[in-house]
Amino acid sequence: MKRITILGATGSVGSSTLDLVARNPDRFAVEAVTAGRDWRRLAEVAQACGARQAVIADAAFHAELKDALSGTGIAVSAGPEALVEAARAPADLVMAAIVGAAGLPPTLAALEAGTTVALANKEALVCAGSLMTAAARRTGADLLPVDSEHNAIFQVLESKERVERITLTASGGPFRSLSLDEMRAVTPAEAVRHPTWSMGAKISVDSATLMNKGLELIEAWHLFGLRPDQLAVLVHPQSLVHGLVEYVDGSVLAQLGPADMRVPIAHALAWPERIATPVERLNLAAIGRLEFEEPDRIRFPALALAEAALAAGQCRPCVLNAANEVAVAAFLGGAIGFLDIAAVVEDSLAALAPGCPETLDDVSAIDAEARAVAQQFVSKRGERAFAGKRRAG
Ligand code: NAD
Ligand code: MG
Repeated sequence: MKRITILGATGSVGSSTLDLVARNPDRFAVEAVTAGRDWRRLAEVAQACGARQAVIADAAFHAELKDALSGTGIAVSAGPEALVEAARAPADLVMAAIVGAAGLPPTLAALEAGTTVALANKEALVCAGSLMTAAARRTGADLLPVDSEHNAIFQVLESKERVERITLTASGGPFRSLSLDEMRAVTPAEAVRHPTWSMGAKISVDSATLMNKGLELIEAWHLFGLRPDQLAVLVHPQSLVHGLVEYVDGSVLAQLGPADMRVPIAHALAWPERIATPVERLNLAAIGRLEFEEPDRIRFPALALAEAALAAGQCRPCVLNAANEVAVAAFLGGAIGFLDIAAVVEDSLAALAPGCPETLDDVSAIDAEARAVAQQFVSKRGERAFAGKRRAG
């Protein structure tokens, strides 16, 4: 029996994880489930999976969650500290599926406690990858990639010494063939309508800007320890080949599978074993052909910004991520346009001096500063757009 704690249990990855847990009642038991603010859904899933503990990160909803779970025997707590406590509590595996840098403290706490972490929360690794991998080395905790591309590579990576190059595939998102002019006018609803994957809003927007692939390059660098120039991106609109490893002898090993996150999640949950999943099987004869193309860094500047942040190292990935989180939230809230997202990230990177974060407090300080700066750029761009609309009206 594996005892599992699910951070971000109410989200897209959290729900897929719970689906697999429910299908394997004799393999998995749920220790704790957590959510950001959605106490109703958290109360529902905590009862459905028989969790021992439910934690809501936003303490404003503590009373609501307590009421909803009263008499169930499920322990309830609230606030960021409680989240870290839950991640640190004994478990065999922590599924890190919170979105954004908010997931860093609990994910790091799990690694520091020596617990195996199945990592979906790529932003944590982008902000503080060195702290996380150092903690894992220190305690011997396994860090298992859940992100489909990294999970694919993990499955086909035999020996790092003989690897020439690793390739992450990208669907290209919903705007793959739009011009820059056409992208100027896209709406949040269009941006979250991903062509191949069903995911949370933030990662869907990141997929539309290709920032997601940029964050994933940084994630891959921390997970697999190659040089940045050994990491490549290839656009593959069908999302069936997820990752490729090229060896020195010219062999290329790739992992294929349907675009269903339950495949990599099942792999991480059961590792080093495998469990059955109900996902649709690949029918390559029906698919007929697989398509690939180079990514376009002119129409998708976020990818180039992330590549530059990876090459520069130090705090640059953390600034990139924080500014992107602010810009994506502003876009989803209607405050700025789609193309402003990468522009806000670029401006924020230019405005902040480099520095080398060494502790979680350093990372938090850089993250907070980057968010404040990005918010200013958001306000400026928002005002300009508003003035433009007024003139046009
Ligand atoms: P989501 O928005 O659907 O769910 C996010 C979860 O995090 C929810 O449970 C939410 O309550 C919780 N949360 C949000 N803000 C929080 C905060 N401040 N403190 C504590 N908890 C908070 O997101 P998702 O699509 O499931 O993605 C989760 C993570 O997995 C992201 O880092 C994403 O990049 C990564 N990922 C997702 C997919 C996917 O298919 N959805 C694929 C690969 C990687
Ligand atoms: Mg991915």
